[in-house]
This record gives sequence, C-alpha cells and structure tokens, in this order.
Amino acid sequence: MAFRFLLFIIATVSCFSVQLSPSVAQSLVIRDASILTMVNDDIQDNQTVIIEEGIIQWLGNADDAEIPENAIVVEESYYVIPGLSEMHAHIPQPGQGEQVMKDALMLYLSQGITTIRGMLGHPAHLELREKAAAGGIVSPRIFTSGPSFSGGSVDSPEQARRMVRQQAETGYDLLKFHPGLTVDQFNAITEEANRLGIKFSGHISHDVGLERSLNAGQGTIDHLDRYMEFLAGNPEERDDPSIIFFGYDLAYDVNEDRIAEAARMTEEAGVWNVPTHTLLDNVFNPDLSVEMMREWPGMEYVSGATRDNWSEFIRNLRTGNDFDADKARRFLEVRDQLLIALHEAGAGLMLGADAPQIFNPAGFSAHRELLLYVDAGLTPFEALKTGTVNVASYLGESGSSGVIAPGSRADLVLLSSNPLESIPFHDQIEGVISDGKYYDREELDQMLLDIKSRIN
Ligand SMILES: [Zn+2]
Repeated sequence: MAFRFLLFIIATVSCFSVQLSPSVAQSLVIRDASILTMVNDDIQDNQTVIIEEGIIQWLGNADDAEIPENAIVVEESYYVIPGLSEMHAHIPQPGQGEQVMKDALMLYLSQGITTIRGMLGHPAHLELREKAAAGGIVSPRIFTSGPSFSGGSVDSPEQARRMVRQQAETGYDLLKFHPGLTVDQFNAITEEANRLGIKFSGHISHDVGLERSLNAGQGTIDHLDRYMEFLAGNPEERDDPSIIFFGYDLAYDVNEDRIAEAARMTEEAGVWNVPTHTLLDNVFNPDLSVEMMREWPGMEYVSGATRDNWSEFIRNLRTGNDFDADKARRFLEVRDQLLIALHEAGAGLMLGADAPQIFNPAGFSAHRELLLYVDAGLTPFEALKTGTVNVASYLGESGSSGVIAPGSRADLVLLSSNPLESIPFHDQIEGVISDGKYYDREELDQMLLDIKSRIN
C-alpha cells in the first residue's frame, strides 16, 4: 500500500516537471545591483538576485552568486526596489471595451506597479484577475472589490446581506463602500461581511461616521473620508456635501487637538488608510492650474475627451461659490497633519492615488502620491513602505511580498537612480519584473507607444 502510494507520488511529481515549459523554468538574474530590500533603509551595493518561477530564490553578494545555466542575465548596475502597489486603483468598466481595460493594466505595470486593488469591480475584472495570475495578459497582480454598496445599490438590510453573500460567493476579494448607507444597512453589511470573513473598504457614509466604521473593523478607509467631520466634532446640523468634497467645508472648524485622538483610535481599531492625497490635491490645490495638470507625465495616455472632462470639472468646481482658495489650502494642510499623526500613532498607511481619475493617470499618479507623502513629512523610505511592506502586512503576506528576500514574490522595479533620492522616479524606470517576468525598457516603451496609438 505504502509502496503504491509512493509510486503514485513519483508519477505525479515527474508528470508535473514534464509539464513545465523550459521558459517557465528559466532563471532570471539581476547582477551587480544596488538593492533596497525594504527590510531596512540600507542600500546594498554589488548584489545579485536570482529568480526562478516567479520567486526570488537567492540574494547575496555578486561575487558569491552561482549563475544558473541559460539564465537571462540583466547586467547593468541598476537600483532595485520591490514592485509598488496601487491600493486605490480602478480598472475601466468593460463597456469601454476590453482593450481599454488591458491598456490600463499595462500602464500600471509600466510604472512599476505590480499589484493593484481595483476599487469598483465587475465580473469582467474577475476574469482579468485570473488571466493576470496565469500570465495570460500583461498586468499587475489584481485584487478587486465587487460593485459598490451605496445609497443607490442598497435598499434594505436584508437585501444588503444577500448582496454581501452573493459577492463573497462570486469570489470578489473585498466589498467597496460608497456614501449613502443608513446605519441599519451598514450594520447588516458589516455583520454579514465579518461573519464570512470578507473585508469592506472605501468611503464612509454621512450617517455612519468615522467611529462606527472603526468599530466595525473596516479594512481600509479611503480618501481619509469622514475624518474632517470627526475633527470638527461631528456637527449634527450639517448637510452632506457632494462626494468629492471630503469635509472641505469644515476646514476652518477643525479642532487640532482631535487629530491625535483620531489617529490613536484608528491605530487601536487596526484600520488602514489609503489617503489618495493626489486626488484631493488635484481638485483643491489652488496652485495647480488645469493647464499645468494637463501637461503632467502620463497625461499623453489619457484620451482627449477624458482630459477635457477633468478640466471642465476642476474649472467648474474652482469657480463655484463653494470654493475658497485659502480654505482649500487649510483643508489640504489638515489632511497632511492627519497623515503624519496616523503615521506617528502607528496606524497603517497604504499607497493609493485613485487612478485613473481626475488628472491621475494610471501608475504615474502613484509616484506623485509618494511625493505628496514626502512633502507631508514622511521620509522617502517611509513613503516607499506604504506601497510595499505595508501592503504585504495588510494582505497577510509579510516576508513573501513587498520585500526583496529569498522566498518572496519576484515583483521588482529596476531604476537608474537612487529611489531614496529621486521620488517621484517614474522617469527613472529601466525595467519591471512582475511575477518573475522581465520587461526591459524597450518593451515598456513599445507598450506605451501602442497604448498611445490607441488613444483618441
Ligand atoms: Zn476610487
């Protein structure tokens, strides 16, 4: 019996190894590089990384490396960091066409984004997630929410519970919240989600508020939603302004003493934040003109119609009666103070720009998001953590993603400059390795050229 079982194993194993195509088994070697492992903030020179089957197999001094036969060897002395994650990404809806969805995924990848969390899901995105995992399309690794829970999609607690069960069964990675939920609906959704072990993230509804969301164990709060309301003492008589304002109207009502309290509560609840600083900066920063933003890196991969829509939206908002430049500056300043307070309290922060929305081209905007974290007061290393090790921790993958170490996913960005000195380094990318597959500068350029040719 035992012998027959052993034979079975041998048969299975040999069958498996026969099935491996030579290209899958081929090693990829990055030789003599300067590595920022993200385990600490030292850049180690003269390192070699050996990758096989999508996993980092070996890392060490270049002189000690045993280069496998037939390996693809990257010889230039690049700086190397783990691939970045965009945790508030959008994959276009399938109504825009399959190629538009695929182009967005390529654009993320071309900017060193090797993991995305899609924040407005569709069944078609589940197919893309599987294709990306199988290496069938050029794409970062995909996590995706389902279609959102909001005042528009939810009409009763019972229907909301059914919607949670259905999305969990369908295989979405998380639930996405938009505003407009009542407290009863929110309680029903979060109870059901916590029972099934599926995370819920995104906006916070007006009636629900920050404290209820923290207590329910929201996965991530995105856009720093409803913190302004908490900092202003949750004014009861206030009407909820439209979705993009995120408490801007309360900028002068903030009690700064409450910032540390909000941060402490967030840390205690174990709830993460995805700030999407650049989204709010693009909308509110009076020093960023529409003309300036239209020329930003990556805007050439956004269609003329979308660029015009974004421009009109910003012009209308900034010429509206509700807009005041000084108040907008104060609003952005409070958001920076909050970001730093969250960081200092040890509350989790993850990189997310909200792309492709309002002058946030996919991938490129994540680099600008990093820059805004540094401008707010994080060190470059701390900013990079939000897109690497912090994401791994959130995903329960500490040590196996978001770092350069043996056993970790081979998601890497090759740079021509020191990443700790060159944020935003979107124009320093010399290559991207995603799930062990290497895209050199030439391939990335061809990808970008193809995407550009399909725009307009
Ligand atoms: Zn979004």
